[in-house]
Amino acid sequence: MPRLTTPPRPLDVTATFPELAPLARTTIRLHPRPGSPATADSSLGGPLLWPAVEPWPTCSEHPAALALSPDEVRHRRRILDAARNRPHPEGTDFLTPDERVIVDGASQPRPIPQPGPIPLLPITQLYARDTPETVAFPAPPGADLLQLLWCPFDHKGRTGPTPRTELRWRTTAHITDPLTAAPHPAVIGKDRYLPEPCVLHPEPVTEYPAPHELPEPLADRVEDWAESHGVGYQYDLAVAPGCKLGGHAPWSYTDPFPMACPECGAPVQPLLTIDGYESGGITWRPLGESPVPGRPTHLNIGRDHALQIYVCTTSYDHPHQQYIQ
Ligand SMILES: [Zn+2]
Ligand SMILES: [Zn+2]
Repeated sequence: MPRLTTPPRPLDVTATFPELAPLARTTIRLHPRPGSPATADSSLGGPLLWPAVEPWPTCSEHPAALALSPDEVRHRRRILDAARNRPHPEGTDFLTPDERVIVDGASQPRPIPQPGPIPLLPITQLYARDTPETVAFPAPPGADLLQLLWCPFDHKGRTGPTPRTELRWRTTAHITDPLTAAPHPAVIGKDRYLPEPCVLHPEPVTEYPAPHELPEPLADRVEDWAESHGVGYQYDLAVAPGCKLGGHAPWSYTDPFPMACPECGAPVQPLLTIDGYESGGITWRPLGESPVPGRPTHLNIGRDHALQIYVCTTSYDHPHQQYIQ
């Protein structure tokens, strides 16, 4: 696939509001698109490069939970995709009776045996070599691979229930004996927590803070100015939609609240955003890409929001935090 390129912003916000220039951050849009990534590739929902000696992370918190089968969920998606792409007589079900049974059954939570604790699902891995040289890879010294996994069931969180995430930073040169067959869960809590395998097309873009993080008089002036030009400040000029590395917070689900590292009290910064929807406002759609995918990963967090992972600004050893935004 050719490189995906975000068009220039419809307005240069710093030309009118130079006070925003120092607040600019470079974020890397990951642009996940359906594919067949291998462990050597940056991916979303693809296999992870994992040392065979390291235990795969698991979750033991859902022994009696009603669940879905990930195999059935994937089968259901294939059936729905095929059915949507073929003609059917008006006024009739677009599925055959047999397909209808499978599709409805796959989305019905029920008790499903899971031998032992639930293996976490690979969500994303990003190799430093796939990120632009002009952007510092957010990792401990020497690490060149970032990985995110999650438990595909809801866990209680400050901003609402979300999958529980785990992060790994790795030095790929140290992985001499990689795991060849990763464990897969037999159960998931929600269809929308199971990603479809996607390859990534990382692209740096410039972001500015959402209006919620600006002094109110400035936020009002910037938003009025953008509106007078027929665009929205946050969604067209400031914060990119979709999965990304770094950047600013896509505030909308909640208003900003104080955040600090639970270990040392230092400020935290956004590391990764996992967003189901890639397109957002039309101004962010990559140039020349057609058709524009809505939810290529099949993920959906909260009610059409995003899961944002924050890390401590003083130590990568301190625990990360995760919020719906
Ligand atoms: Zn769990
Ligand atoms: Zn800390």
